[in-house]
Amino acid sequence: CGIIGYVGPESTDVTTILLEGLSKLEYRGYDSAGIAVLTTAGKLELHRRVGKIANLVASVSNGSRPGEGTLGIGHTRWATHGRPNDSNAHPHTDCSGTLSLVHNGIIENYADLRQELSASGHTFQSETDTEVLVHLVEQAYLGEANHDLVQAVRLALKRVEGTYAIAVVSREQPDLLVGARHNGGPLIVGLGENENFLASDIPALLKHTRNIIVLEEGEVAELRPHGVTITDQAGSVVLRKPLTVEWDI
Ligand code: GLU
Repeated sequence: CGIIGYVGPESTDVTTILLEGLSKLEYRGYDSAGIAVLTTAGKLELHRRVGKIANLVASVSNGSRPGEGTLGIGHTRWATHGRPNDSNAHPHTDCSGTLSLVHNGIIENYADLRQELSASGHTFQSETDTEVLVHLVEQAYLGEANHDLVQAVRLALKRVEGTYAIAVVSREQPDLLVGARHNGGPLIVGLGENENFLASDIPALLKHTRNIIVLEEGEVAELRPHGVTITDQAGSVVLRKPLTVEWDI
C-alpha cells in the first residue's frame, strides 16, 4: 500500500525518517506496517507490527531501537494474500538476512514461483505473494547477478507476472536503494542533498524535498547518497528533469 525508502550519509536517524514517512501515508489505509534499517553494525534490523503505525513506533522504542544508519525501507500493508499479522507485514527478508524488500501490488504467479523456489531450497516465513520477490532477487543475487543488486532485481522481475512497486536493499550495499515499478501504484524519487528518498506518494517526501522524479512504467531507479540513475526496461539510462512540488499538505 505505502512505500518509503531512504539512502544517505552515515549516522542518520533513518528510523525516524521512515516512521514519519509512513505516518504521512496513513491516509491511504493499511492493516500493518514495518521498517528495515541498516545499522552501522551492518545488520538489517527489522520491525513489523499488525495494526496502527503507533504499534510499530511503540515496538521500535521498546525494543532495541536500530542505531543510526545509512539506509532503510518502510511499508504500510493492505493485505491481499495472507492475513494481516506481524510475519506477513513487510519488509520481507531472504534466507540469509542479506536482502530486504517491500512491495505494493499483487504477484499473480506467486504460487508457481513459491513451489519452484521451495523445491530449490528456499524457506518461506510468510503467507504473502510478496515473499517470492525477495527469494527471486536472492537467487539472482547469489547466482547470475554475482552480488549486483540492480542486476538481481532486473533478473527477478523478468520472472514475475502481476503489478508492483518495490523497494529493495542489501546489507552488503549500504549506499544503494533500488526501486522499480510495473503496472502498480506510483513510485516517486525525492532528491535531497547527499541523501535521496523513494516513496509511493509525494506527502511522504515533502518534509525533506520538493524536487521529485516520478518513475514511469517498467523503470528501475538506483538511488545513492550522491545521485540517482533511472533506467528503462531495456536497461538504457533515462534522463528526466525533476519536477518541483509547489503545494503543501
Ligand atoms: N500483495 C501484498 C501483500 O498482500 C502487498 C499488498 C499491498 O500492496 O500492501 O502482502
